[in-house]
Amino acid sequence: MLIFTEIKSLQQEIKSLKNGTTIGFVPTMGALHEGHLSLVEKSKKENDIVIVSIFVNPTQFDNADDLINYPKTIEKDLSLLESFNCDIAFTPTPEEIYADEIQSQSFDFDGLEFQMEGKFRAGHFNGVGTIVERLFKVVKPHKAYFGEKDFQQIQIIRKMVEKKKLPVQIISCPIHREKDGLAMSSRNIRLTKEQRAAAPFIYETLKEAKIKFGTNNASEVLNWVENEFKNHPLFTLEYFEIADEDTLLPVETKSPSKKYRAFIAVFAGKVRLIDNISL
Ligand code: AMP
Repeated sequence: MLIFTEIKSLQQEIKSLKNGTTIGFVPTMGALHEGHLSLVEKSKKENDIVIVSIFVNPTQFDNADDLINYPKTIEKDLSLLESFNCDIAFTPTPEEIYADEIQSQSFDFDGLEFQMEGKFRAGHFNGVGTIVERLFKVVKPHKAYFGEKDFQQIQIIRKMVEKKKLPVQIISCPIHREKDGLAMSSRNIRLTKEQRAAAPFIYETLKEAKIKFGTNNASEVLNWVENEFKNHPLFTLEYFEIADEDTLLPVETKSPSKKYRAFIAVFAGKVRLIDNISL
């Protein structure tokens, strides 16, 4: 596996590839787990070579503490990627990506950015748009792989690709879970033993909400979920939303022709966890 920290040398390598070589790209922030690796595996199957970036993007963090405390396990990440036959790892510094101005550009995602994560993490999606567009322009992948764990992010990136006519196909990949149902996340290693043991409660709640949405309207399900968290000793609900998968707008009246998804964000102490389920 080749490892590049500089854009110039990465691009030289990409330029030297045989004509017609297809590139699959998996952007990550590192602290890799099986969820990330499932994206790498899929990308490996569908392309001639796989490039994985590891970059903790400062502009998508709305909270300085969260950025400082974001897990960093670069040596372990690189050996995992090597063992999954990744071809190229790209591990730039913030200066390499942003030069001397660590700042987001401003994007219009047709309103997708104002829902859910966008409401609670100011500027987050401008940061995501900025880094993903930058990386797409550097790597020029044929296909890029994103996890449904960050479903809103996928919709935002699809919108960006469509609006800016970027020549890349966005591939969405299912959520990878621990055996007990907790969605895998780099942040899970920050949970205390007690929080980790209780964390399957989040997915349990989503599964129960899915069942309830079969016979109840969205506001009844919302009330039920809020109640479930009201007196929880370890978790604080930030939001629970049932939304149209395409527009991400909250459901008002159910329509059989639309696809819905339930989204949740929960604080376990200072650790913020998100999850979602197709309804
Ligand atoms: P991150 O490093 O958290 O920015 O994630 C990098 C990519 O991996 C994103 O496309 C995420 O949606 C995806 N990802 C993270 N966790 C999971 C998971 N549990 N299952 C599937 N994909 C995931």
